[in-house]
Amino acid sequence: MIEQIFLHQKAYALQLRKESIDTRFEHLDSLEKMIEKNIAEITAALAQDFKKPEAETLITEVFPVLHEIRHAKKHLRKWARPKKVRTPLLLTGTKNQIYHEPRGVCLIIGPWNYPFQLLICPLVAAIAAGNCIFLKPSEFTPQTSHLVAKLIKETFSEEHITVVEGGPEKTQDLLLLPFDHIFFTGSTRVGKIVMEAASKHLSSVTLELGGKSPTIIDSSANLKDAAEKIAWGKFVNAAQTCVAPDYLLVQQSVLSEFKKELISKVDGFYGKSALEKKNSPDLARIISGKHAERLKHLIDDAIATNAEVTYGGEVDLASHYVAPTLIEKVDPHSAVMKEEIFGPLLPIITYNEISEAIHFINERPKPLALYIYSHSEMNIQDVLKQTTAGGVCINDSVIHFSNPHLPFGGVGESGLGSYHGVYGFKAFSHEKAVLRQSWMGKMLRLIYPPYTTQKLNLFKTALRWRLF
Ligand code: NAD
Repeated sequence: MIEQIFLHQKAYALQLRKESIDTRFEHLDSLEKMIEKNIAEITAALAQDFKKPEAETLITEVFPVLHEIRHAKKHLRKWARPKKVRTPLLLTGTKNQIYHEPRGVCLIIGPWNYPFQLLICPLVAAIAAGNCIFLKPSEFTPQTSHLVAKLIKETFSEEHITVVEGGPEKTQDLLLLPFDHIFFTGSTRVGKIVMEAASKHLSSVTLELGGKSPTIIDSSANLKDAAEKIAWGKFVNAAQTCVAPDYLLVQQSVLSEFKKELISKVDGFYGKSALEKKNSPDLARIISGKHAERLKHLIDDAIATNAEVTYGGEVDLASHYVAPTLIEKVDPHSAVMKEEIFGPLLPIITYNEISEAIHFINERPKPLALYIYSHSEMNIQDVLKQTTAGGVCINDSVIHFSNPHLPFGGVGESGLGSYHGVYGFKAFSHEKAVLRQSWMGKMLRLIYPPYTTQKLNLFKTALRWRLF
């Protein structure tokens, strides 16, 4: 069945190449209308999947996708136009261009944490680049998965876009097929499985993975402002965000003042008492009992290794609730500092000199995002130059994700490749080098055999004169 659809898509992908670019605009229009007409259904599906607040679904799932579609529609003609490049002396007379051609049949595998946005944003790029697509939503958000499958089926032909629902075994079946490109968003562990499978067919890959994103707060920072932005960036979506601040590195001298501000902001967002927070309609739930248990284990392990839970700490496994929690005096070797937290636990580590914070970050795998709150240009430059990360925000958290003019992606263990805007278009395109020869091509006969002494001397002179 999957194999059959794959063959139909292969054939249709060739058909799509013959169509004018206007067809891609029609497809983007259809996708945009599909979303606009079904916003209520989308917010309802996410609320059922993990009590995601309606406002958060609009801000973090619907707006980014619509913005991505509109951005693509505005720029697609320019992106898709063959790009003229310069001609070196040796090739005088030739015309050289880069064509962006569709990769062909692509597979997009999505995670559960932003189950709509992280499946549909790559889809926008894949459509804009003229591909056929298999979409594989996460099994952990079944309502969103069913809704996407239904809407895509109503809007697009199966030979163009098809949704395959199911768990890891379904993904494994899909990974046996010789896709022209695989775009995966998920954990580093599964990213390695995907890359290994892709290597069997030498399919190209984009891997959007996770990791621990550090946040530095130095003594020059505006602490009130930093606290507010960190509280939102961390606890939105119940901290199940790939670019959420994973842990804080706070300069010792401002720790107590910063903590006071942070607690006041979190109380302000979700309620002062433990009960108010638990009943807050603005705090999403943890995706599954398994993940809530994992987070409880991280708290227990931190306490067992002498850390102190100084705020929050409540867990209700039955309702998948984990309170916003601050953990101090953490052992850097404890589980909470080793694995990606992906939940509302926020370890706080202190440092004295910025070089200590930089060293701490560089000792660990390259993060997907890095945040620095500071008004010391020297500290900002030191962090920018001496660390590496997929993306950086200075004096804010998370929002670099929403600029389609910036590439979004990881580095090393946090990912391979990038997307958003033109970067997504490029991820789903092959850059084909095209050289067109003119009558002047006859000059190149010089380099053909027989290699006479005269020719050899000419080459040597050219070398001496640095003509190449
Ligand atoms: P996951 O890796 O468990 O699952 C992602 C997808 O892979 C799902 O569709 C799942 O069905 C499939 N899958 C799971 N196990 C598999 C296996 N053994 N073989 C083949 N396929 C398999 O990730 P998740 O739990 O859904 O998402 C959370 C992770 O994703 C976190 O690590 C987070 O940081 C990362 N993430 C990264 C980004 C990014 O843009 N870089 C965005 C969101 C999430």
